Amino acid sequence: MRVGIPKALLYYYYFPLWKEFFVQLGHEVIVTGSTNKKIINQGSKISVPEICVPIKIFNGHVLELAAMNVDYIFAPRMVTVEKSKTFCPKFLGLPDMLRYTFCDPQYHFIMPYICSKKEWGADVKELVKDPFLSQYSENQLREAWEAGVKKWQKFQAICRLGYTIDEAMVLYQKEGLPPQKEKNQDISIAVIGYVYEVYDQFVGMEITKRLEALGVNIYTFEMLELEDLKKQLKAMEKTLFWTFANKVFAAGLHYYHQPGIDGIIHVTAFGCGPDSLSGKMMELDSDKYGKPFLTIRVDEHTGESHLQTRIEAFTDMIRRKKLAKK
Ligand code: SF4
Repeated sequence: MRVGIPKALLYYYYFPLWKEFFVQLGHEVIVTGSTNKKIINQGSKISVPEICVPIKIFNGHVLELAAMNVDYIFAPRMVTVEKSKTFCPKFLGLPDMLRYTFCDPQYHFIMPYICSKKEWGADVKELVKDPFLSQYSENQLREAWEAGVKKWQKFQAICRLGYTIDEAMVLYQKEGLPPQKEKNQDISIAVIGYVYEVYDQFVGMEITKRLEALGVNIYTFEMLELEDLKKQLKAMEKTLFWTFANKVFAAGLHYYHQPGIDGIIHVTAFGCGPDSLSGKMMELDSDKYGKPFLTIRVDEHTGESHLQTRIEAFTDMIRRKKLAKK
């Protein structure tokens, strides 16, 4: 079978695991290309207007997969991967939205519930309830998932060595681990945001590559150990309800505390409820820690030129500030 995975949402976090899972079960995995204007336009047309941009993008990728003649589309219901926290409600409701948006019988989805206390976990008792996956025994599903987890752990280990997700997606397929990534530029910026915003070609507009071209060391949340993030959250009176919003916010706090980080850029998309809280909190913290903070908020109509101008101005300002201090 040809199983399609949309290059959107948690593709950027779990793809190595998901791909290996289906390969182990004997399927061919097909992925859409990077988000472009056509994908975002077609996704926006079939989505409710008030939904966040990443979900519109996801819908656009589902349409792309249908045109690529896949047999099934993988769209799990991401519920929880840690105790007492859940994914944002859009993830919880994604399979329902898809069912009502793509009701034509040509669409076949694989939509298992992902409920676990581990980031990489999945309950095989839930997997086997999915009509497509029910053709396998629990043991087969467990073994295939565990093979996927090994790939994912390598991918994660590469990110911890200072590589961006774009880089780690290539490197995890090679033998062994790469060396620690060198960061020897004169300024360092933390780029904070959900992986499906920072690394999506339309939302993030290759911001990490653009900054590197401007001579900046890049730091992101996936380069941090879970323990570093948890430490920041422990110090908070009250954390957020949503797993990834917490990760992003904790990464922001972590980098505010790092003397080597000169500034923070928050990448966010129009229509994100959790970011309206965490983004504002990070912005307020910017004064407290005395570090420059920039928000890049993208909607369906955003162009690339404004991004380039803003990050150039931001890096110039940081360099001048450093010079003045010296
Ligand atoms: S966290 Fe924000 S951007 Fe992500 S799915 Fe939820 S509302 Fe959309």
